[in-house]
Amino acid sequence: MTTDPGSSGTLTFRPGEAGYDAETSGFQTGFALRPDVVFAASGPQDVVAAVAHAAAAGLPVGVHATGHGLPDTAEGGVLVGTRRMDSVTVDAAARTARIGAGARWGAVVEAAAPHGLAPLNGSAPSVGAVGYTLGGGLGILAREFGYTADHVRSVDVVTADATLRHVTPDSDPELFHGLLGGGAGLGVVTSLEVGLVPLTRLYGGSLGYDGRAVDPAALVHAYTRWAATVPDTLTSSLAALVHPDLPSMPPALRGTYLVSVRIACTGSAAEGERLVAPLRAALGPAVSDTLREMPYGDSHTIHSDPDFPHPYYGDSRFLDTGPGPGGLDAGAVAELVARCGPGADGMHIVQLNQLGGALARPAPNAVPHRDAGWLVRILSPLGEGGRDAARAHHARAFSAIAGQSAGRSLNFAFGGADRAEGIYDPQTRKRLAALKAAYDPANLFRRNYGVA
Ligand SMILES: Cc1cc2nc3c(=O)[nH]c(=O)nc-3n(C[C@H](O)[C@H](O)[C@H](O)COP(=O)(O)OP(=O)(O)OC[C@H]3O[C@@H](n4cnc5c(N)ncnc54)[C@H](O)[C@@H]3O)c2cc1C
Repeated sequence: MTTDPGSSGTLTFRPGEAGYDAETSGFQTGFALRPDVVFAASGPQDVVAAVAHAAAAGLPVGVHATGHGLPDTAEGGVLVGTRRMDSVTVDAAARTARIGAGARWGAVVEAAAPHGLAPLNGSAPSVGAVGYTLGGGLGILAREFGYTADHVRSVDVVTADATLRHVTPDSDPELFHGLLGGGAGLGVVTSLEVGLVPLTRLYGGSLGYDGRAVDPAALVHAYTRWAATVPDTLTSSLAALVHPDLPSMPPALRGTYLVSVRIACTGSAAEGERLVAPLRAALGPAVSDTLREMPYGDSHTIHSDPDFPHPYYGDSRFLDTGPGPGGLDAGAVAELVARCGPGADGMHIVQLNQLGGALARPAPNAVPHRDAGWLVRILSPLGEGGRDAARAHHARAFSAIAGQSAGRSLNFAFGGADRAEGIYDPQTRKRLAALKAAYDPANLFRRNYGVA
């Protein structure tokens, strides 16, 4: 540990120094970050110092908050560590929160709750709120409120000229557009101001089925038919996974094939029960049922994402259909689910998210594919075959839905999954390329998912 060469006083770590490994590690363990220097930022001025240092030396800049979305292995260059910039300040009257670059969703949920407010967080409390929102942010209440990026009021960002800018939709509409959903290739965001919603509770949880006892294809068909009938106050997804038969797994889960429907509904518990009744009737008895009234602070239990670091590869496809079953080839989705099921080589978690509702509304940002009705994701913990085996499996599985595929989601591309390929439509790509040329002509921020 030393201080930066430009003597700004910023904490820095170089290879071999105590603390370097801790600064470069995070949730994703499959891909190493080995920068020449880490600037462990405590505030915006440290980020300015890091970018100035990188620009002067012509080095690439990467950003590391929690490591959930680590784009790829990165050797050399400058890494800006934002985990110390984790402040969350709630303005209850304005119903907004200012979120530091290193804050996790769990901390934002906690800070908003005493004011009767909630952020538009995702499934896991450990994910970084800023990294998530820069990628769009598909939250647990997405169909009612839209992408989290749609609720951003202002962005504080250090651009490649080492200037800290306060960007709002009025001050600089084009830069504001590109910063949100644009692939984080335009600068290092030091904080975001986001809108909160008045919410203290939810009706939600999951219904789990034994995929060996019930035909998973029938579950996919019944789920997608039912989802078309519910209002936007209910957001849901289907997940299918074979739990590994390993001693480290809880005995009740070892080797099981679980297909579950996850639900979050802002309506009353009675309304939620009424909406879910036809699904229960169509699917038959569940092996697990956690649907209930819950305080918003428990909403992370709906998905119960793993909270321990591990290696994984992941990718996704938007489906070019409306959010209902009309137009959706549920048979093709069921085939994809089957290809990732018990017969597959390795573990593959499939998730099918219903989109539509507020997600389809236009917003002043670059979040793409708003017309898509569904999003299919595959997340594969890496085994012996590593990334190549996972990538080959994904190619086979996604080919089942090739006829409906409309592109990929920035937030669900893990472990170097083809970078920015297929994420943007040509017009958005052109706008982002123009912004890149204006704000980062030397492509300093090439470590992120941005358009070059
Ligand atoms: C278990 C799990 C659950 C998830 N759930 C959801 C979900 O429900 N909905 C959803 O939409 N996504 C979800 N994601 C995806 C997640 O939003 C992305 O992976 C996101 O990039 C994570 O950001 P991070 O800061 O936590 O991770 P990091 O790996 O630290 O950052 C990821 C990337 O984001 C960019 N970035 C981060 N901070 C900054 C910054 N301050 N300035 C500029 N660029 C920055 C950089 O490119 C960085 O490499 C989930 C991921 C995991 C692993």
